[in-house]
Amino acid sequence: MARTLRFLSGIPVSELKGVGPARAKALASVGIETVFDLLTHYPRRYIDRTKEARIADLHVGEVASVLARVDRISSRRLGGGRGRGGRVMVEASVSDSSGRMKITFFNQAWREQQLTPGTEAVFWGKLEDFRGTKQLTNPVVDLVGDQTGQVVPVYPQSEKARITTQDVRRWVDEALRRAGDLVDPVPEPLLDRLDLVDRTAAMRMVHAPGDSVGAYVVARKRLIFDELLRLQLALVLRKRQVERTTVGVTHELAGALVGRFHDALPYPLTGAQRRVIAEIEADLADPVPMHRLLQGDVGAGKTVVAVSAMLVAVQGGHQGALMAPTEVLAEQHALGIRELLADLRVGDEGALFDRPLRVELLTNRVPAGERRKITEGLAAGEVDIAIGTHALLSADVDFASLGVVVVDEQHRFGVEQRAALRDKGRGTVPDVLVMTATPIPRTAAMTVYGDLDVSVLDELPPGRTPIETTWARTEAEQAQVWEQVRAEVAAGRQAYVVSPLVEESEKLEVSSATETYEQLSHGELAGLRLGLLHGRVPPAEKEATMRQFREGRLDVLVATTVIEVGVDVPNATVMVVLDADRFGIAQLHQLRGRVGRGAHRSYCHLLGEGATDDGERRLEAMVETTDGFVLAEVDLDLRGEGTILGARQKGRNDLKLASLRDDREVVDTARAIAFELVDAPGGPPDALVDEVRLFLDEDEEAFLFKS
Ligand code: ADP
Ligand code: MG
Repeated sequence: MARTLRFLSGIPVSELKGVGPARAKALASVGIETVFDLLTHYPRRYIDRTKEARIADLHVGEVASVLARVDRISSRRLGGGRGRGGRVMVEASVSDSSGRMKITFFNQAWREQQLTPGTEAVFWGKLEDFRGTKQLTNPVVDLVGDQTGQVVPVYPQSEKARITTQDVRRWVDEALRRAGDLVDPVPEPLLDRLDLVDRTAAMRMVHAPGDSVGAYVVARKRLIFDELLRLQLALVLRKRQVERTTVGVTHELAGALVGRFHDALPYPLTGAQRRVIAEIEADLADPVPMHRLLQGDVGAGKTVVAVSAMLVAVQGGHQGALMAPTEVLAEQHALGIRELLADLRVGDEGALFDRPLRVELLTNRVPAGERRKITEGLAAGEVDIAIGTHALLSADVDFASLGVVVVDEQHRFGVEQRAALRDKGRGTVPDVLVMTATPIPRTAAMTVYGDLDVSVLDELPPGRTPIETTWARTEAEQAQVWEQVRAEVAAGRQAYVVSPLVEESEKLEVSSATETYEQLSHGELAGLRLGLLHGRVPPAEKEATMRQFREGRLDVLVATTVIEVGVDVPNATVMVVLDADRFGIAQLHQLRGRVGRGAHRSYCHLLGEGATDDGERRLEAMVETTDGFVLAEVDLDLRGEGTILGARQKGRNDLKLASLRDDREVVDTARAIAFELVDAPGGPPDALVDEVRLFLDEDEEAFLFKS
């Protein structure tokens, strides 16, 4: 009988020959507890022994795999001389019938025990020349005797757990043999269409490619597809489940409020804004709750889109809410949005009475008395738009009729928050728009937010001049930066200076900002009007400083990252970031987006030395491009995809071979197939659903498969 993955995931590795309690414990320490874990512990690479060379025929610079016999081996300590700390170098002399060569290992003292004279092994690496002798440095070593003519898998080794590639190979062989045929949950016609091999073949070929150099490529193609299909199926199932189990608001699009808002704007909407607003309105008019991601680069004009969506709710007699990740951001949003809506009145023209739109800010900083007034207003339906933090979701906040929720810059808006929202909506689920400027490559976004629809604001408002970015490393270059700040101020412009990021503590960050402020006002920027803003400035003072800067009564704003998102002063043309290599790409991109908002030419100066390689690459990328999507790709490269998948622990564990970055096309295919299968009359095949469940955590499983 063919075996399922679930079946294999119920068999402990200790069932295998040679895996006693100690081995089982060692395996568990690297995440291998079951036969399923073992079989999905895929080779890291392969040694092609179909083309094994003789030492005499090797050429320097080529990657070679050589079967040779160890003649001599010895070790010594390098550097430091005495005691610990020095590096250990192991040197071996090996030979075959055609000649001899040298093998050198650094920091692998144990090789001396492993490769005792007389041992035969395959050494795989790039051939070097060391003073006229052929040499391999830190080659992959394969002790398994005769696999000549084979493509041999090499597994990730764990020195600490003392699990060698040979051990794994042996256990995997046994597991494959005893498992026999595997159930293939993907229907055969689909496999044919996608040109994929069946699962049993794929699993065998990935672990034991035999003498075929192409086998593992074919195998990986199938296994990668499976991983991505499971992920997409989970997401699509969730999307459909949300749609099935929730009742949303059917918004009226007929009202005049949105139109009046657009007419009153000092600029026409961009084509992209128009298109995205139409996409959102179509969702809003539909009874299924909207769940849409709005992606738009910094400065693309997302606020107007968000406000439009909330006004659709308001004009139909409902309420809108905007949730920001921090209090400062919520405050800034409230300021900006109040200004945008200052002249709007609720109630259709011709109605007997109308009233000004009521926009309230609700954060944990709002004093109790005022908070009560606001929550009463919300419960009575007198507050039209609430702007705040997660405080909006707290139990004492009750909405009369919450119609649209905008979530700003929030990457984790999961099942729990949605449940909280459902409660706020008194049975109906409000429409949700998630906005992000932290650019996420499209496929990754689709994967992580797989149950979201995506709208992209891919056009900046006209008249923006590209921001010129420099990286000032030397003192002379930095002196020029301050020179330029003074010149811009002299020309009537304004500047931001962002003080170093101190991740460990807000207190240190505050003192670094204060120090920067003191230094600059007595040094490089003496005589200019400087303001200071950081997380510990009391709200009233903060607001006053922001207002002064906005009104041009301050020349330079020294700040911590509190200004990272949302500050909007078109007259500001210079952004100086101190110790820029401490910031991530997304943050730098956000900061740079604070300038270049008006018609004036703008500049961004990144100060600091690239303290790390990654830091250096980040700054180089910033200098090279202002395209948020390109930067997002670089970021993804540098940080790896784990960070994007974030909290999706289980989903991430399932991506062992697949890469969201390298397998984009497969992501697309898997997503299309997932929709096809989920929407087919009988739903996806049971075997496939069962497999998806294997990778879900309990909450997700409960949510998807209750009822
Ligand atoms: P985002 O939130 O996407 O970073 P904002 O909504 O803060 O961007 O808008 C950035 C700036 O562009 C603001 O100054 C805003 O007034 C302006 N803006 C928005 N839409 C337009 C438009 N259609 N034409 C001109 N300027 C616009
Ligand atoms: Mg914004």
